[in-house]
Amino acid sequence: MLGQMMNKPMLISSLIDHADTYHSDTEIFSVETTGGVETATWGSVAGNARRLGSVLSKLGLSEQARCATLAWNNRRHLEIYYGVSGAGFVCHTINPRLFPEQLVFIANHAEDEVLFFDKTFVPLAALLADKAEKLKHLVYMGPRDEEVAEKVPNVTFYDEMIAEGDADFAWPDFDENTASSLCYTSGTTGNPKGVLYSHRSTVLHAFAANSIDCIGFSARDVVMPVVPMFHVNAWGAPYSCAMSGARMVMPGPGLDGESLVKLIDTYDITLALGVPTIWLGLLGYAAKSGSKLNSLERTVIGGSACPPSMIDTFRDTYGVDTIHAWGMSEMSPLGSTNQPLAKHSKLPVEEQRKLRENQGRPPYGVELKIVDDNGKQQPNDGKTQGDLMVRGYWVLDSYFRQEDEDLLDDGWFATGDVATLDPDGYMTIRDRSKDIIKSGGEWISSVELENIAMSHPKLANAAVIGVPHPKWDERPLLVAVKAEGEEPSKEELLAYFEDKIAKWQIPDTVVFIDALPLNATGKVLKRNLRDQFNDVLSA
Ligand code: ADP
Repeated sequence: MLGQMMNKPMLISSLIDHADTYHSDTEIFSVETTGGVETATWGSVAGNARRLGSVLSKLGLSEQARCATLAWNNRRHLEIYYGVSGAGFVCHTINPRLFPEQLVFIANHAEDEVLFFDKTFVPLAALLADKAEKLKHLVYMGPRDEEVAEKVPNVTFYDEMIAEGDADFAWPDFDENTASSLCYTSGTTGNPKGVLYSHRSTVLHAFAANSIDCIGFSARDVVMPVVPMFHVNAWGAPYSCAMSGARMVMPGPGLDGESLVKLIDTYDITLALGVPTIWLGLLGYAAKSGSKLNSLERTVIGGSACPPSMIDTFRDTYGVDTIHAWGMSEMSPLGSTNQPLAKHSKLPVEEQRKLRENQGRPPYGVELKIVDDNGKQQPNDGKTQGDLMVRGYWVLDSYFRQEDEDLLDDGWFATGDVATLDPDGYMTIRDRSKDIIKSGGEWISSVELENIAMSHPKLANAAVIGVPHPKWDERPLLVAVKAEGEEPSKEELLAYFEDKIAKWQIPDTVVFIDALPLNATGKVLKRNLRDQFNDVLSA
């Protein structure tokens, strides 16, 4: 006997319909690529998304055609998210920071038929117009612009395109397992691979993100996703915000500390999401300008390990709660968030704070386990570390166009991270498996060493890598970026580790560098550092 409840497919169009019906005049502030801030509403975004959906449906595209974007976080991009997926096409967000050859590879691999692009990316759009074989429609995200028309052949202008559209377009109904969006991993671990999300996985992910122990977006929030919409759908914020009717501030191209602090103070932002590197800039400017970030209540920090010193600064100086989150493209991305348990409130404050530093526990819908080299499950004792495996409603099953590859291990996806899990399920990421340092048969966590280094007041940034060593195979090397106006010595930096970690784990030496090399999603390119400093201890 089946249950007798409505079987309504979970479609992305239902999210924008909800926002339109119940939060129509809720504002969306959008920093435009060409300058200035525009004010839209969920109602106007929904109307434009339907217009766009109606136009796309008449273009003669293939079924489930991929419609790509090269764009910042802005209002039109939000409309494209909903217009494309809502009409049954696949929204393929391309990371513009990838190398041009990778962009061409991705656009051809995905067989993109439409490309929407912002002004910043006119040269990349011209490149793809030439090199992406299936591309038929290039759409500039703005009003008519002759300069763009000169550079990109046969360009269409978004504003003119949707002006022709039907604001009463009825979203089509289809299977909730239909593909909705596509995002390629940034390739820190090899060639970019496509992760193809479904309507169902996206809606379930949005529900989970909206639970109070995850992020809990609310109609009372003003949310700024600093994490780009081309990086795992801005961690799903555009969907969760429509679901909850949150106001949004789309920060556009300026992701420097000054621009972000000004947006927070002008629009009374309560919740902001981004990677640690971004917050370094923001905290730097806030300190310089004297802003108290008064409106800000919470930050969600993830993408790479959030240094505990950053959590402390947000809490002690600005009264902001940091939700440390972990995830990956293959998980839509949310895998865990650090929120306390009831029993923690009885602990001494220092202990409570310590418990907030790790990557947290999974929401309902995600399961985590750790295994040894033979795939044997390891205990959740907070000490034993192992390869982290995941499964759940919004975890991938296979990569796009690699369906034949047997990716899963007995139904679990291997994340490539090394972690410990404690009895309550709280996870500490020790490293990515390829970054962990193997010294004389023992493992050293680069993340742990980086967290210590980052709390040194004379350093602006730091990374720790394993480099070949004649006796110990590998030893840790601290690659340090000095804080402005500071001249720390190698000796004082190494001495700083002394009472914080076992002696044999202290880095062997320090090299200074002007800036850390970052990949397209703001993560440190350790591969490059390893190439550069490979001989430091063995030469
Ligand atoms: P990639 O970097 O492989 O292209 P993602 O952008 O999806 O892909 O990054 C996922 C990886 O980022 C995770 O597997 C993990 O190594 C790292 N990561 C994400 N969040 C955190 C965090 N809070 N702490 C430590 N590492 C993190």
